[in-house]
Amino acid sequence: MRRAHPTWIEIDSAQFQKNLLLIRSLIGSSKLCLPVKANAYGHGLIGIAKAAQNIVDYFGVSCLEEGASLREAGISTPILVLGAIHEDQIEDLAHFDLEFTISSKFKADFVAKKLKKKCRVHLEVETGMQRTGVRPETAIDLAKHIRTLPFLDLVGVYSHLARADTPNDPFTMQQIAQFSHLLSLDPFKNLLAHIANSSGLIHYPEAHLGMVRPGLMAYGYFGIDGLSPCFSLKSKVSFFKVVPKDSGISYGHHYKTENQTRIVTIPIGYGDGYRRALSNKGEVLIRGKRFAISGTICMDQLMVDVGQADVYVGDEVVLIGKQGSEEIKLTEIAEKCDTILYEILSQFNERIPRVL
Ligand SMILES: *Cc1c(COP(=O)(O)O)cnc(C)c1O
Repeated sequence: MRRAHPTWIEIDSAQFQKNLLLIRSLIGSSKLCLPVKANAYGHGLIGIAKAAQNIVDYFGVSCLEEGASLREAGISTPILVLGAIHEDQIEDLAHFDLEFTISSKFKADFVAKKLKKKCRVHLEVETGMQRTGVRPETAIDLAKHIRTLPFLDLVGVYSHLARADTPNDPFTMQQIAQFSHLLSLDPFKNLLAHIANSSGLIHYPEAHLGMVRPGLMAYGYFGIDGLSPCFSLKSKVSFFKVVPKDSGISYGHHYKTENQTRIVTIPIGYGDGYRRALSNKGEVLIRGKRFAISGTICMDQLMVDVGQADVYVGDEVVLIGKQGSEEIKLTEIAEKCDTILYEILSQFNERIPRVL
């Protein structure tokens, strides 16, 4: 690699494809939309899209920029922009052949005025998330109205579940029932209908409908046989030294050595998206053994007290993933940071190269 960085994210694309095929086997004839927003949940947008393009029917992105990047990388799969669109993006949305979301008459009219070619759009219905989407009462009129506009081709209708991570949740059942009722009405028959995210797909089979949109599940983070994460975060020891007992380590000296010990430095920090909250808390694997992060994590580096262990410059370090018989799971990191897997994954930034 031309600009090899000693810290990288390794994607096991064979495992990733296995996850997608497993999802396919669970959804029958429903289509599969893979959410690749936020740099494919930190996995790397283009690499993930290329690995997935022959298996999925759609990519889901949050904004124009992500969709345009996919097109510029030669991806021809249908792409749906899930977030609300802005007026100054309409020409580019059309230019890059992106499907986008309409959820008000105002936007529909506005978009129609600006367009010079036909665009495929989805109508988003609000059923309980209170984020974006038109109220079900208004959806029927809006669907009829969109059909009268020359350049808008209404191809899909969708909604989003707010509480699907709990099985048998009455509110989720109500959301699905409300959406399904709408689908039985004239303006929505024959449209591509979708509402299920990962947990909707797993806990509410009646929500599969025309298409599903599982993100976290596709990346392997649901306890289902055959499904497994495909993401590892790795680095290499960049510096080694022996320090005497009672030495303070890193900013603020929040770690003190108890004995003479070996301190190694790893070239990753919060400037890469490796959370500072893991200071004095996180662990890493070197030569198949767990070692604790010692002291405050810096912007670009962190230190590890390896005691008397034989560790050398250049040794591989695993911060997330397996090494020998040991494993550091993403869940362990998220718990230590008091947050969810999604947030940890999406914060690894462009400074870390993704290797497939
Ligand atoms: C992010 C997102 C998804 C995927 O959610 P997961 O919980 O990762 O499966 C599905 N639909 C929409 C609208 C989203 O924004």
